[in-house]
Amino acid sequence: MKIRDIHLGVLSAPLKKPFKTALRTVLEVTTNVVVVETDEGVCGYGEAPPTAVITGDTNGAIRGAVEERLRPLLKGRDLEDLNGTLDVVDGALVHNTSAKAAVDIALHDLWGKSLGRPLYSLLGGASREIRTDYTISVNPTEVMVKDSLEAVAEGYEALKIKVGTDFALDMERLSEIRRAVGGEILLRVDANQGWTAKEAIRTIRFLEDEGLGIELVEQPVKAHDYDGLKLVTDSVDTLVLADEAVFSPRDALVLLSMRAADLINIKLMKTGGIRNALAICAMARASGVECMIGAMMETKISVTAACHLASAIPVITRADLDPPILCSTDPVRGGAIYNGSTITLSDGPGLGIEGIDGLVLQ
Ligand SMILES: [Mg+2]
Repeated sequence: MKIRDIHLGVLSAPLKKPFKTALRTVLEVTTNVVVVETDEGVCGYGEAPPTAVITGDTNGAIRGAVEERLRPLLKGRDLEDLNGTLDVVDGALVHNTSAKAAVDIALHDLWGKSLGRPLYSLLGGASREIRTDYTISVNPTEVMVKDSLEAVAEGYEALKIKVGTDFALDMERLSEIRRAVGGEILLRVDANQGWTAKEAIRTIRFLEDEGLGIELVEQPVKAHDYDGLKLVTDSVDTLVLADEAVFSPRDALVLLSMRAADLINIKLMKTGGIRNALAICAMARASGVECMIGAMMETKISVTAACHLASAIPVITRADLDPPILCSTDPVRGGAIYNGSTITLSDGPGLGIEGIDGLVLQ
């Protein structure tokens, strides 16, 4: 099976309610879909949403990377040589991890389709149930408490709470949410690089002293501040999860050798796809560090790829894969099956995606 062409499309899905963090409000998920077409008419799907503040990738950057670099280099390549083809993707241009992820995911989808097997199985896994947490948007405290109680009533056992820059308000929100949901629910706090190392240590120690039972704090300091991250990790009892700090396997190698965090959050849009994510998982496992799998505001195409990875790789012990739940429509037929907080996978070949409604190819 050879690659005949690569097409780009746009897909949008409105959110049920606005997704709000300290930095932005999102009303709908809009993503760039990559369709890799083969000479046998079989297509592989991938996607890349623009998340410029995290990856640096705008729509224009993603589309340019695919059209000007990846498409000409990949046309005519034999799919049997998956690793050789992924090397070409990796070497085609620096950075641009979202575009690379979209193509990597589509190639893995085709790998499964060409062999007639689901991707999780080819990655060495059995289909297992994944439980995702649920993100509580930044709102007035009473709204966040109400959203948390609704999520718990729907069966979520872990809530991810975005914190802002207002210490007193954030502490009020976290203690009110803890009081409302009881002691059994896992509470995860995502600071999205909002603190200095000293602010993080002071804040996390306060949370510990208040007995709020926070399971983990995600990316307390700036992405590049590995020394600061290590200082926080060494100074508090709460688990520290690296997110924006780790894009590539090389980032993971440095962070793991420094023991700068307790956990790594893997997102395919940061790693540049499944193969690099597997490399990070292998290093984390060798270091005795567990991983979370997360996503940007993506549709079910790339989130399904993340689910296959999570299903196959035991070192991924936590999942933050709620974007498809936040959307009011699901344009993807097949793929990951969401039932409340529980995600399962079909045994369809590749990603198990049967089609995409409303996809406009360009
Ligand atoms: Mg995060």
